[in-house]
Amino acid sequence: MSDRYISLANGPLKAVVKSLGLPAPARLRRFDAADPKGGFLTDPILVVGATPGGDELSTLLLANGFEVVRAVTPGHRYAALIGAYDGLDDPAQLGEVTLGIGKGIKQLSPGGRIITISRAATIFPHTTGSLTPAANAARNAVTGITRSLAHEMRGGATANGIVLDGVPMSAPSAVAALWFLLSAKSAYVSGQFLTVSSDRGTPVGSEEFAATGADPRAPLTGRLAVVTGAARGIGAAIARTLHRDGAQVFGVDVPAAGEALARTMNEIGGVAIQLDITAPDAGAAIAAQVGRPIDILIHNAGITRDRLLANMDRQQWDSVLDVNISAQLRINAALSELEAWGDHPHVVSLASTSGIAGNRGQANYAASKAAVIGMAAAGAEEFAARGGTINAIAPGFIETEMTARMPTVTRELARRISSLQQGGLPQDVAEAVSFLAGESAGGINGKVLRVCGQNMVGA
Ligand code: NAD
Repeated sequence: MSDRYISLANGPLKAVVKSLGLPAPARLRRFDAADPKGGFLTDPILVVGATPGGDELSTLLLANGFEVVRAVTPGHRYAALIGAYDGLDDPAQLGEVTLGIGKGIKQLSPGGRIITISRAATIFPHTTGSLTPAANAARNAVTGITRSLAHEMRGGATANGIVLDGVPMSAPSAVAALWFLLSAKSAYVSGQFLTVSSDRGTPVGSEEFAATGADPRAPLTGRLAVVTGAARGIGAAIARTLHRDGAQVFGVDVPAAGEALARTMNEIGGVAIQLDITAPDAGAAIAAQVGRPIDILIHNAGITRDRLLANMDRQQWDSVLDVNISAQLRINAALSELEAWGDHPHVVSLASTSGIAGNRGQANYAASKAAVIGMAAAGAEEFAARGGTINAIAPGFIETEMTARMPTVTRELARRISSLQQGGLPQDVAEAVSFLAGESAGGINGKVLRVCGQNMVGA
């Protein structure tokens, strides 16, 4: 399903859209493996904030070939504005960095990035122990600043934050989060935070990474990935992206989708597994058919059976809960019991903004997707003990067959009520999945990342 309005608003109707003040969604700059710039804008990066994180960040960017400036020069364009708030202990200190960012906003390149760096906040209550009320107030204020800036962005620019939870900016996953947020891979992520809570992980491009002999363009080389619901939509995009990034992919889908699954797997040299994930022995069947340790598992298969609760029957409730959460819990437990995981396994499960905000007619779906977020939070400890991670991705409105079935007016509204004023593409979700499934994200665990263009739903 394509969004023709984007082409019209950037083409023949550009003047009309402007004069009537209609939504003006930009064409987003997405990652293209053939891009010699590797998905990064080449203008200089403005780093604001005389904090330890600001200094570390500048050194890091310079060492990786970026041009860094610490003050705005009239007439210059900036690929990104980075606000280093990590050393601030009182809300009274926020003004300098924030207004410093403000001075650069009009010079941000189209598709540019604002990134804030801060310390753990009250949105993660268990991590606030060492912060004073004033320090935590300052830190939490950064979430308000970042989210507001995301609402103010135009021309496909975004604003996101990196939250340092007891780790320095040099922590491998903080660095990896920075590259992800700076690159075109995060085109549809806005108003969000990546929290890094351990110094695990190997950043792509680091000396440690180079020592493994892996190719920075294919960071998942040598990893075996299982993707459920891989026949079409987001699952097929995830399978293709994990393959692009070097993984050997096993795609799972129901026998009825066998033909489409075979097509996708043939395209990427993957292996098709025809299986209903709600089968009681699905975990054992996957382990047996893969026959090797599973390094990456993407729980993507999902269904909707929308009804107002007053009209919902038992079958509509049970089927959604079973596919979207119970099957995942059973498969994870079976793979653990069978010791079928590889070294440092990474699990990523597809939640939804409906699971964060709830949605009319989706008590079953929202329950299952909120449950996914709960599973990731509580599963973090087990996967950390295995040297791995489990995280959730919550897409907003993504252009797939699932959303193509929505009534026209509802679909059009759902597209425009995000800061980027458009739906995302399956590739946008797949890029975030591949990032969290990689070794570089080993310090991000038990979290949920929204890929929603800052959709107002649950924002
Ligand atoms: P889709 O309906 O296009 O594809 C889902 C795939 O899962 C299909 O190939 C289907 O055959 C497979 N599947 C369903 N039940 C299965 C089962 N029991 N066993 C094995 N495979 C099964 O959906 P999509 O839009 O690509 O969504 C993928 C995931 O992303 C889902 O979990 C969905 O809830 C989530 N999500 C989608 C959106 C969106 O806007 N499209 C938004 C938020 C979350």
